[in-house]
Amino acid sequence: MPTGTYKRTKEHNRNISIGLKRIGHRPPPNTKTGKECPSYGKRGTKAHAWKGEKAGYHAIHLFIRRKYGRPKKCERCGIKTGKIEWSNISGKYSRARKDWRRLCVKCHRFVDKWYEKVGYKKNHKNEKTN
Ligand SMILES: [Zn+2]
Repeated sequence: MPTGTYKRTKEHNRNISIGLKRIGHRPPPNTKTGKECPSYGKRGTKAHAWKGEKAGYHAIHLFIRRKYGRPKKCERCGIKTGKIEWSNISGKYSRARKDWRRLCVKCHRFVDKWYEKVGYKKNHKNEKTN
């Protein structure tokens, strides 16, 4: 580009200056980043990536565990040791507490009919009572 053929306006000069100061993928100056951003550090409905009812299986599980804590007792067999998980009842994965129950790993796999998928047929609860 030949110089002197046209006059740069003040705004043009300022834009060139900003462009030269930018490094890599850094956002341009006067952009809200980090803590200045209104959604920074917000959880739940105010979070920048809040999907509402469109959230997927994994996101809903994370939400339930964060909101209601880690379950300590199985609601089906009453076991308190080992890993207790949140189990969805309706299969719709809503955020309502009543759609969820605490189950130990064995009950959870049984209720979700996981045994059919892997060919495991024994009922963990019946195993105990027999
Ligand atoms: Zn159980």
